Amino acid sequence: MKIASVVGARPNIIKLAPIHKVISTFSDHHIIIHTGQHYDYKLSEIFFKEFDLPKPNFDLNVGSATPGFQIGEMVKKLEKIFLKHNDFDLVLVYGDTNSTFAGALSAIKSGIQIAHVESGLRSFDRRMPEEINRVLTDHLSNYLFASTQTAIKNLKREHVSGKIVYSGDIAVEIINYALRFSSKSLILEDLRLQRKAYVLFTMHRAENTDSHESLISIIRAFETLSEVEIVFPIHPRTANLLNKRNLYSRLEKCKNVKLIQPVNYIDFIKLMQNAKKVITDSGGVQKEAYLLSIPCITIRGNTEWIETVKSGWNVLTDTNTKKIVRATRNWMPTGEQIKPIFGDGNTSTIIKNSIMSLMSYEKVGR
Ligand code: UDP
Repeated sequence: MKIASVVGARPNIIKLAPIHKVISTFSDHHIIIHTGQHYDYKLSEIFFKEFDLPKPNFDLNVGSATPGFQIGEMVKKLEKIFLKHNDFDLVLVYGDTNSTFAGALSAIKSGIQIAHVESGLRSFDRRMPEEINRVLTDHLSNYLFASTQTAIKNLKREHVSGKIVYSGDIAVEIINYALRFSSKSLILEDLRLQRKAYVLFTMHRAENTDSHESLISIIRAFETLSEVEIVFPIHPRTANLLNKRNLYSRLEKCKNVKLIQPVNYIDFIKLMQNAKKVITDSGGVQKEAYLLSIPCITIRGNTEWIETVKSGWNVLTDTNTKKIVRATRNWMPTGEQIKPIFGDGNTSTIIKNSIMSLMSYEKVGR
């Protein structure tokens, strides 16, 4: 069985790691195609090294561009590979990035079946580029690996044509892997951080980074929270946009904010595990904060990880300065026990078994 995984951005590569491991146990032909959506070492190659992933078989070097141009370039190049090799049984795509959608679109146009890992998530906010990628990818996919029961409901409501499989979320096992090694991480010592004495901050979503008002609101929150130490591994996209708007130097003046480069996964999980709270607009980070029982303040008006909000561990503040300040200073979760809403850590095995049985059934049926 010849399987291709299409990845391109940091969260795709992290999700690929456990899946590659299980696929390699039954297929010698797991081809990794990197679109080049993220090309910065700290958003891409660092994870290939950390998770001991083989170098991608194809590197499309698409790079930054407007979304339509970027997706178009990816589709053009992916189609060329799929048509030239003409022997792929399945294309795996992950999450909700432009690479996810481009992978699915080029696969279906080349007559190849598609499996979507982390299927069925919805923020119900069509202004989010990721929401469009999710909806379109789910409707193109033959196999939909759903992370949560809510995801299954969403997919059924939309009458997707592919087969829905509850797999739980791959993050559970990636975190478990990171926790096994996090005692070796020296990130707290390197950054001179005291356990539970700082807040971890990340931001990269277009709706926040592309808005002058949102960027200013965030900086005002940092300025107001001068008594709180904030660790901010800054995404290159966010740094560029702050620079373009002449706001980077204002951010640098916030003495309470430790601006650092993005870090590897184990260091990041160590930072999260030891933070008092997390403030983020990331999808993955909200889920990881829940799994680690760290209070999460989400600087968005909605979330696709709605269970984390319902459980009381995640609060939505948008980029409203006052709400962020209040939540950082005063809000604490009600303390509800963490439940296995993202499955029990066997997602990669469930996905492997499903692919094997679904694909052999398809072959017999042909
Ligand atoms: N992450 C990391 N290093 C960092 C920041 C984040 O390894 O410096 C990880 C984080 O643990 C999560 C993923 O990157 O697994 C989230 O990526 P991102 O926020 O870019 O994407 P999203 O989850 O919003 O799609």
